[in-house]
Amino acid sequence: MNYYFKEEHEIFRQGLKDFLNKEVRPHIDKWEEERKIPKAIWKKFGEMGYLGLNYPEKYGGVDADFWYSVVFVEEVSKCLSGGFAATVTVQQYMSSPYLWKHGSEFLKEKYLTKAIAGEYICAIAITEPGAGSDVANIKTTAKKQGDHYIVNGAKVFITNGVYGDFIIAVVKTDPDKGAAGVSLLVIDRDAFGVEARKLKKLGWHSSDTAELSFDNVKVPAENLIGEEGMGFYYLMGGLQLERLIGAIGFVAGCDAAMEYSLQYMSEREAFGRPINKFQVLRHRIAQMSSEIEATKFFVYHCCRLHNDGQYAVKECSMAKLLSSELTEKIATQCLQFFGGYGYMEEYKMARMFRDSRIGTIGGGTSEIMREIIAKMVIDDVRYGGAGNNSNGQANPNGKHKQDLNSIDIKNEIKMSLESTITAMAAKAAEASPLGSTLKFNFGDDGQIFIDGTGDTNVVSADDKDADCMVNVTYDDFKALVSGDLNPMSAFMSGKIKVKGDMGVAMKLQSLI
Ligand SMILES: Cc1cc2nc3c(=O)[nH]c(=O)nc-3n(C[C@H](O)[C@H](O)[C@H](O)COP(=O)(O)OP(=O)(O)OC[C@H]3O[C@@H](n4cnc5c(N)ncnc54)[C@H](O)[C@@H]3O)c2cc1C
Repeated sequence: MNYYFKEEHEIFRQGLKDFLNKEVRPHIDKWEEERKIPKAIWKKFGEMGYLGLNYPEKYGGVDADFWYSVVFVEEVSKCLSGGFAATVTVQQYMSSPYLWKHGSEFLKEKYLTKAIAGEYICAIAITEPGAGSDVANIKTTAKKQGDHYIVNGAKVFITNGVYGDFIIAVVKTDPDKGAAGVSLLVIDRDAFGVEARKLKKLGWHSSDTAELSFDNVKVPAENLIGEEGMGFYYLMGGLQLERLIGAIGFVAGCDAAMEYSLQYMSEREAFGRPINKFQVLRHRIAQMSSEIEATKFFVYHCCRLHNDGQYAVKECSMAKLLSSELTEKIATQCLQFFGGYGYMEEYKMARMFRDSRIGTIGGGTSEIMREIIAKMVIDDVRYGGAGNNSNGQANPNGKHKQDLNSIDIKNEIKMSLESTITAMAAKAAEASPLGSTLKFNFGDDGQIFIDGTGDTNVVSADDKDADCMVNVTYDDFKALVSGDLNPMSAFMSGKIKVKGDMGVAMKLQSLI
């Protein structure tokens, strides 16, 4: 009985397995050794329709439901090469979705159709030498000059950044606006001024990981994805899918490691019997199988939420956390079953072991996953969605934009609360309505209430319930306004406590 996959999904799985057995598995060792996957393979993937499973037919996609993608990710993750799985999942689920969800027709025609066809390989470049977990702190700039942007900066650890054809780069189009100044730009890998250095790494040997530098790179303005200043929101939506895809792959990797180990344990003998007859190892297998099964079905639950169009931040973060930590544990324990052979390259266990180590780091570390979950569980923070999910269903929480950018209350810091309200009211009235209510709660020192549900933002000292409540002392509020206190670190250190709709709270950065 299978509650998630229908017969057609299993038929698809069998066809995919046959394809992987013929076109991929026989070559994996070579690709790992050469630290490179030949581009020709992606065209074969494209011809089979494997790179556009959830994309519309108009762009060459298959327009299938998300469960086909679950099957796809499971099977590519069972090829015993994390590097191979990473290359293809970054292409289909971590970079090209931004084009489809937020890109113009021009970008879809020029880049998305080629990515689906396997003619172009793409990368997503978020991480910088000085900004990994702290994404809002990126420094790469894109300055508008006429019909172009001029991009300067550096990125690091970028999968597909060496052999890929284009990069979706996270840039600051307005460096003064923090998260509200972040945008996404498509940059051709061979554009003048783009340099890539291939990084040597512990695992994922067949995938290429780049350090990229952008030196006055001229990028056409039409390569902007969506709107300027919305990049952070697009990313928040994209990262949920990235984490979910990661979780599917990690669990499938656990299954593959177990299958590989069970086969070995049935053949390897010690003390006159197969090692799978030793009770201590049998119990370990029982424990590991139980944990894999439990995690797998939680991940399927998250897949169902995603397929239904839910913006499941808490669940996807939990799935990523649990599955990535599990894969590391399973790989370590499976290697133990192999004794000395597990340490040798001729057995795939060694590769699975080193490949497993990236799980708790890439796409948001375990510590960051725990931060997100803790905020939602303890502080009752809710995250608003960022655009559509992979099936194109609009997320009702994602409709509000960051539209208080123009508010500049820095000069008002010495004013009393009353005059601050007056100053904010004038500026907020000029900005587009928030679409919701926001309250700064200063405890005994009063509060500022912004009602953006009507045609304009109305600022007052009313003490009313709001969709989003920001608890902060008035002194810290003034420090935030004056720039003495960084909003992100105030948030991390608990000086700002947010209750309610986190999507509204994210606008704080631009507000102050
Ligand atoms: C093989 C590989 C492939 C990658 N591919 C890509 C890619 O394609 N595109 C891309 O953009 N990036 C990519 N990355 C980057 C990856 O997403 C980052 O490495 C990751 O987000 C962590 O950032 P960092 O390395 O700068 O670590 P840091 O952010 O410097 O973190 C260092 C340590 O501090 C902890 N830490 C940081 N902040 C907090 C906090 N608030 N609370 C508690 N602990 C905290 C972290 O958990 C970590 O343990 C890749 C990385 C690797 C290794």
